[in-house]
Amino acid sequence: MALEDPKDATSITRALNRAVLAALPFGDTQDFEDARRGFLGSLPDVEIRNDAGRIVWSLKDYAFLEAPEAPATVNPSLWRQARLNMHHGLFHVTDRIYQVRGFDISNMTVIEGERGLIVIDPLISTEVARAALDLYATHRGRRPVIAVIYTHSHTDHWGGVRGVIDEADVKAGHVEIIAPAHFMEETVSETVLAGTPMVRRAQFQFGATLAKGPRSQVDAGLGKVTSRGTVSLIPPTRYITEPFESHRIDGVEIVFQLAPETEAPAEMHMFYPALRALNLAENATHNLHNAYPIRGAQVRDTNAWARYLNEALDRFASDADVVFAQHHWPVWGNARVIDFLSKQRDLYKYLHDQTVRLMNHGLKPAEIAERLALPKSLAGTWHVRGYYGTLSHNSKAVYQRYLGWYDANPANLNPLPPVERGSKYVEYMGGAEAAIARARADFDKGQYRFVAEAMSHVVFADPSNTEARRLGADALEQMGYAAESATWRNAYLLGAFELRQGHASTVARAPVSPDVLRAMSVEHIFDLLGVRLNGEKAEGRRIVLNWVFEDLARTYVLNLENCALTYLAGRRSDRADATVTLDRATLDRVLQGELPIPEAVQSGRLRIDGDPSRLTELFGLFDTFNLMFDVVEPKRQAG
Ligand SMILES: [Zn+2]
Repeated sequence: MALEDPKDATSITRALNRAVLAALPFGDTQDFEDARRGFLGSLPDVEIRNDAGRIVWSLKDYAFLEAPEAPATVNPSLWRQARLNMHHGLFHVTDRIYQVRGFDISNMTVIEGERGLIVIDPLISTEVARAALDLYATHRGRRPVIAVIYTHSHTDHWGGVRGVIDEADVKAGHVEIIAPAHFMEETVSETVLAGTPMVRRAQFQFGATLAKGPRSQVDAGLGKVTSRGTVSLIPPTRYITEPFESHRIDGVEIVFQLAPETEAPAEMHMFYPALRALNLAENATHNLHNAYPIRGAQVRDTNAWARYLNEALDRFASDADVVFAQHHWPVWGNARVIDFLSKQRDLYKYLHDQTVRLMNHGLKPAEIAERLALPKSLAGTWHVRGYYGTLSHNSKAVYQRYLGWYDANPANLNPLPPVERGSKYVEYMGGAEAAIARARADFDKGQYRFVAEAMSHVVFADPSNTEARRLGADALEQMGYAAESATWRNAYLLGAFELRQGHASTVARAPVSPDVLRAMSVEHIFDLLGVRLNGEKAEGRRIVLNWVFEDLARTYVLNLENCALTYLAGRRSDRADATVTLDRATLDRVLQGELPIPEAVQSGRLRIDGDPSRLTELFGLFDTFNLMFDVVEPKRQAG
């Protein structure tokens, strides 16, 4: 075995995982029945390729999950969830409602209307969405898609839309796309401005780049992993803007319930009264979700989350025979629907209220995280357990929502940055060798949390210290093996991998897909250019440009001064250095690097009146971001 290979579980990790078997009700197998119920058929291994023949989704590498008993290197509770998430195919949920599961991390729901189909949440990429709709057609016949509904603003609920409909049909009015209020703004703001670090950090959350196996990625909690095909976006044609709205879509009555600031900033639930079915989007799934996903995001409002679930329970649950979400499997039977929803509601309310209570007692985030545990009445309920979110990191998020990142201890107000801090720690610990010797002794005692932290200081002081890297990796790995949360496991195991082997320096995929860029407003584009402006390079420069978008009939003044890029819409400056006249598509092509500015000028797509050098000067001040930045060690390249 090479030193870089994953290791086995230690006796301490084995004991921790064995204890889980005794603590949780593994005899309760209702979830397995529910995950299988209504199965109509699937594809072998769900192996799906793009046009170039590259695999964008496959369950083949997860065959090891057939074993009912967890290996020592996986928490048995997570193993159970990982096996549940292996159920794939087309499932009959109830009259007229079908779901395709296991074709991506999310589910695609299909409702049979009078003339055709209503497709809810077309997965992440076009290839898997098309395959999901084809699977439906194989078993139920080919029918036209009359409407698409996006339940919320996260990519796994809209990215495959071009796999199920043509934009021409949307433009011609044959297909409508329904989404919650502010869908476009939230989609763009969450994934674009902070797109690069979020995509890099998502590798740690989902473990998509990790190998699959008992010593590596087994699941993502919410589903297996994310598909890696073509992300598309067609903007909605109708928005739900009232707290409750009823519409008849292709003959199916749908009561929409807006649930903003919950799992996503723009999200909505649906009740189908005639079908006695409730769809809670992503607010009630078979795990504790995230108040804050570790990929990074704005913190969500867990108090509102509980309130919207309570309203759904109050208004709809007594008339529902089934509740389902856009991840995981449904819950059938009125009594079980009510029980499920009540517990999900109380889970988020408990998380919120108990964190804020302890905060009011003066506890710091790490202290609250250490103290919080599920109430006994919930702890044995599978669907509230932390496969995706954890009480620990979620409670820190609740704290952050109210009080921010600072714990009020002035010693933490302005600490040294990681490299300097690491160096001082190593010095105080008596040098790297002494620190490693102590850490080895602690590792043998199972004190993995502190060993990982101490070795991280050594690595930041000296990234070439192989011994510290290996010991830090070993500690992260054991924590990964014992973690019930798939996202923690993935983070630990990718951290261990990168400490042992480093990481690829580049990846092909751009964080913002061309379709998303096209869907952004000019204001969003200028915001994006603002965060790409290199402040140091911009020192001392003043550039004022008028922008005229002929196709949009809109003008903007873009102003660079004091190393800050600002804009005003609907204005034109008399003192501008130049006026740039173009259409929106040209701007998109320039930004995607398809059309260099001089070529755009030459071909007449972009006209510059005034000093033409100022536009190229401005574009020369923009940074490009490298997705594969260092995470577990000091940043190597300048930037
Ligand atoms: Zn989702």
